[in-house]
Amino acid sequence: MTGRPDAAVSKTSPVRYGGQDDAERPLGRSIKRGLLNRCPHCGEGRLFRAFLKPVDACAFCGEDMHHQRADDLPPYLVIFIIGHVTVGGYMMTDLVWNISMWAHLAIWVPITVLLAFGTIQPIKGGVIGLQWALRMHGFGGHDEDTDPGRGGPIE
Ligand SMILES: [Zn+2]
Repeated sequence: MTGRPDAAVSKTSPVRYGGQDDAERPLGRSIKRGLLNRCPHCGEGRLFRAFLKPVDACAFCGEDMHHQRADDLPPYLVIFIIGHVTVGGYMMTDLVWNISMWAHLAIWVPITVLLAFGTIQPIKGGVIGLQWALRMHGFGGHDEDTDPGRGGPIE
């Protein structure tokens, strides 16, 4: 007889930690559903009830969405992405055409505003999908306000 006495244990199912809520949450699928204004859990219910206000819970599957704390990340990502598009576009067109700074402002400021308004909601949805997939801020089924790992109850 060779091998460790507990070798039979490895033939059974692997040990899962983290409670009952162990359904798979693929990161890419969750972010994509959020980008498309869909619930990251079911992909059917709408994620936003107003321009930047997420629903409290999915109307289709009932998944709680009030846990989301997208906070400053969506505007940061919008500034990062749109900044590269518009500043890069300005620098490239400035090399090709000899137009005044006022003409550049008349072109790039409206483009910046339109792109920012057009991308902030999908990016916020993607951030909420990311938080849901990573079980952040209560999406994992625990109450963050009473998590002892974060210092206990918060008044
Ligand atoms: Zn849903």
